[in-house]
Amino acid sequence: SDSHIPTPIKPQEYKWEREYREFLSASIHANSAEKPLVQFADVGCGFGGLLIRLAQLFPRNLVVGFEIRDKVSQFVRRRCLALRQEQPGRYDNISCVRSNTMKNLANFMRKGQLTKLFFLFPDPHFKVANHRRRIIQSSLLAEFAYTLAIGGRVYTVTDVAELASWMTAKINSQPCFERVSTEDLEEDPVVPLLISSTEEGRKVERNHGCTRHQHDCNSLQIGAG
Ligand code: SAM
Repeated sequence: SDSHIPTPIKPQEYKWEREYREFLSASIHANSAEKPLVQFADVGCGFGGLLIRLAQLFPRNLVVGFEIRDKVSQFVRRRCLALRQEQPGRYDNISCVRSNTMKNLANFMRKGQLTKLFFLFPDPHFKVANHRRRIIQSSLLAEFAYTLAIGGRVYTVTDVAELASWMTAKINSQPCFERVSTEDLEEDPVVPLLISSTEEGRKVERNHGCTRHQHDCNSLQIGAG
């Protein structure tokens, strides 16, 4: 069971200073009443490759990776802290929190807080009996939508064709989401990172070139309740 994973009752109770001490205490934020909130979340961040690339591309945005595995989440936290020590000021905006995001995203994120939500190479759970464990599910999409700002984007990537169709179908069935057009995606600087930045993505590229993965991006059009 994952009930022992520390989880705040509500987002306001989480001590984000623990994750982003230097960023939040920097002079521009230190005295403001409204502290900046996390805007990008990478769900199932694995070893944190995307976080590291996002740190460089969006130094003013706070980015969190959620990872359910204890050792992996600790590894990513330490990876972020080590980078901060090596290159002061460059990785203050990224961290990793252990969480079961299938249960607890709304415990960490407020309504409308996120502008980018990533699901890169989520576990495919091939057997039909295990499809209910897939992270993209109709019931969960409503919760994910709750944490997104209007216009906020959900990015999905997989190299499993059947999972790609599943995720597209589930997201399409939610009227609050609209597929982002190919032209609009060409202007989105995170798209090139979706495959090249994560450990799983690089494995897929090594194994069979970059042709077999499928990515998709949808934006929230109307608020979820
Ligand atoms: N996104 C990374 C990448 O592209 O390299 C990792 C992909 S890996 C196949 C899927 C990751 O999701 C694993 O690290 C796993 O522990 C994590 N995960 C699975 N279910 C999760 C959940 N409910 N909440 C948070 N993380 C989860």
